[in-house]
Amino acid sequence: MNCYHCNTELIWGGDHDYEDHGIDTDGIVTNLSCPNCPTTVFVYTDIEEEENPALLMNILKEEE
Ligand SMILES: [Zn+2]
Repeated sequence: MNCYHCNTELIWGGDHDYEDHGIDTDGIVTNLSCPNCPTTVFVYTDIEEEENPALLMNILKEEE
């Protein structure tokens, strides 16, 4: 997966449970960071909905 802003390949930062992010359902939050710009991407995968997993990307870009 590449950076939304600069298209550099993102570095995998880890997987966390929804619970760690204060979300009260089962799911995984994967965080990826860009080595080229100050972008962090969080990918939220809801594992309760097996047929149609909700995939929500939250893209943050810090002030430079
Ligand atoms: Zn980038």
